[in-house]
Amino acid sequence: MGEEPCFSGTRGSGTIFFSGCSSHCFFCQNWQISNVGSKGKTVSADEFHRIALGLIELGVHNLNFVTPDHFWPHIEALCIQLRDEGVKIPFLFNSSGYQLPALVSEYAAQMDIFMPDFKFADPNLALLVMRDERYPEIALEALRLMVAEKGFLEPFDPAGTEPARRGVLVRHLVLPGHIENTVRVLDLLYEEFGRWLPLSLMSQYVPTPAAQNRPPFDRRLVPEEYQAVLDHAQELGFENLLIQPLAASDDFLPDFDKEKPFRGNPG
Ligand code: SF4
Repeated sequence: MGEEPCFSGTRGSGTIFFSGCSSHCFFCQNWQISNVGSKGKTVSADEFHRIALGLIELGVHNLNFVTPDHFWPHIEALCIQLRDEGVKIPFLFNSSGYQLPALVSEYAAQMDIFMPDFKFADPNLALLVMRDERYPEIALEALRLMVAEKGFLEPFDPAGTEPARRGVLVRHLVLPGHIENTVRVLDLLYEEFGRWLPLSLMSQYVPTPAAQNRPPFDRRLVPEEYQAVLDHAQELGFENLLIQPLAASDDFLPDFDKEKPFRGNPG
């Protein structure tokens, strides 16, 4: 239940987290598995298949592959096998946005839903956080292709009564002290895709150990920052916008030392 209601619905999203990430953001909220690499276990193709079937048997609304890029050949094979076996629920590609555009059509052949981040419009911020100032151009091109392949999220139901079946929703995590980056992200997305682009504007940033001595990343967002971002999104006119209460809660900060890493959405 740690995903947006469009995906979590009433029975949850079947998330499968993969260790490692091509982006290596120093503040990563999934740092225990993305940057350190100490969490996670190696599984065979058969075990991977059993894990997926176990989730499907629980009744989840979708299979949600989190940071799937570098395991793609294995995921592709799993998806083909599951479809051959008659599995109908949507498959979801949940990613950093830092995708090779040339691979998007290959992903799209298996996936129903894309949920990419669009993290940085500011090349210097991208360079600081993940050491590649090309992120904005790479992510924007990948996103163009994802939208061309699948369109916008359908249905877009913020209550989660009718979970999404297909399409693209973009995520953006608002960073403390970097509101101008978010404003530029919103401008770029609006210019490129218009006001109906489904967008999740997240306020849940929590400083991780690696961010403790790197102000302003060593604090949470303050209400004035998030409000400024929401005001700008509303001025632009985004219609399909998901927002979060700015609560001092760790409900969406995973702890992969626990059996259930997320508290997530209530219920
Ligand atoms: S792209 Fe996401 S998962 Fe990857 S390092 Fe950055 S914050 Fe973590």
